[in-house]
Amino acid sequence: MNFDFDPETREMREMVVGFARRELNGGAGFRPGPGGGTDEAAADFRHRWQLAGKQGITGSCVPAAYGGSGLDAVTAAALMEALGQGCTDTGFAFSVGAHLFASLMPLVEFGTEEQKRRWLPALCSGERIAAHGITEPEAGSDALNLRTRAERREDGYVLNGGKCFTTNAPVADVFVVQAATAPGGGYFGLTAFIVEAGTPGLTVGPPYDKTGLHGSPMADVHFEDCHVPLDQVLGGEGAGASVFTSSMKWERTCLFAAYLGTMKRVLDGTLAYVGEREQFGVPIGSNQAVSHRIVDMTLRYESARLMLYKAARGLADGSDDEIAPPSPARGERGRLQLGLDAVQLHGALGILTGEAEALVRDAMPSRIFSGTNEIQKNNIARALGLGARRSRPRPRSRAAR
Ligand SMILES: Cc1cc2nc3c(=O)[nH]c(=O)nc-3n(C[C@H](O)[C@H](O)[C@H](O)COP(=O)(O)OP(=O)(O)OC[C@H]3O[C@@H](n4cnc5c(N)ncnc54)[C@H](O)[C@@H]3O)c2cc1C
Repeated sequence: MNFDFDPETREMREMVVGFARRELNGGAGFRPGPGGGTDEAAADFRHRWQLAGKQGITGSCVPAAYGGSGLDAVTAAALMEALGQGCTDTGFAFSVGAHLFASLMPLVEFGTEEQKRRWLPALCSGERIAAHGITEPEAGSDALNLRTRAERREDGYVLNGGKCFTTNAPVADVFVVQAATAPGGGYFGLTAFIVEAGTPGLTVGPPYDKTGLHGSPMADVHFEDCHVPLDQVLGGEGAGASVFTSSMKWERTCLFAAYLGTMKRVLDGTLAYVGEREQFGVPIGSNQAVSHRIVDMTLRYESARLMLYKAARGLADGSDDEIAPPSPARGERGRLQLGLDAVQLHGALGILTGEAEALVRDAMPSRIFSGTNEIQKNNIARALGLGARRSRPRPRSRAAR
């Protein structure tokens, strides 16, 4: 195993870290209330998005033929890590991941040639933004059990229903959405659709006020007699669950790389702080209790990194191993604990608005999106031969006969 990046990838990483520090930081954030005007936040978000697009960030792993940079999964993860490291607005990096891995990669993998040529170039260049919607109020972890219906008409489908927790919805130009074409049809009952913002019958609710990832806009999406033409079905009728699985495969690996970069940034900042901050006439880092905490933080970062790049390698090689990453590449408790440690080591400064407390807030949702930690563990348990298998009916006891 070679854990070194080649010189080209190293150069790309440095370029992305530098670009993110210069151009992407200081976003307005999507917070309602005074000073948090969402129009202003949306304009600022789109401006930074266009800059990121010009750097090849918003289409990094899309083939060059469709306007992307053609990176493989390992290099795309390296880019996302650099983005997380340079960009203090983890929400922005998260939004890039949701656009790229949950929306564009399914288009790459399931789109017809005509669809790829029609939709991908503007989504890669930063001109347009994508969102992916499957979650509904009654269908969270049980994602395939959704209620949004798509009824077949001669010239297309009519969508009715609604999505919640849709990342990028308030700014999205294109939605990749799942709807039931055969309700109760299980895995083959869903179909994915490409729906353009502004299509009659599609409306987006106001941005949510979240505890973390403030720079990533999120909203409900509603469909009321929303007509979608036939050429906007993605992957064919009944292929929705496969489209969703493909998006999760990318998201569970490469999106989480942004968090690695955030962990590195906070770790470096905390290491510098404990070397400078003096109490009792010595730097606080000279106390073993402090240095051990820094060591634990370093080990958390390094082990998360190993798992993530192993997952990215597997993704690039087409592995379908469910026990090895991608699922554990989420790094489970590592991010949140690293954030808590950073807050602790900054003392009272740690609870002021800043990078350490932001990591705690931004790490909390990472235990929920792309399938909760518990659902990931169910997947791994199943791959180990355990978990939710139905037991065989037991023979009735004598008394019951
Ligand atoms: C920041 C963020 C961004 C998101 N972006 C998107 C997006 O762009 N598009 C989209 O469609 N969705 C998105 N989501 C929604 C996300 O996919 C869901 O929140 C997630 O699938 C969990 O569903 P739920 O919130 O309804 O929780 P529930 O499914 O109600 O789960 C609640 C709790 O019960 C546990 N639980 C449920 N079932 C089981 C089980 N069988 N075994 C063990 N434990 C179980 C869960 O692990 C969790 O702890 C986003 C969520 C977040 C937090």
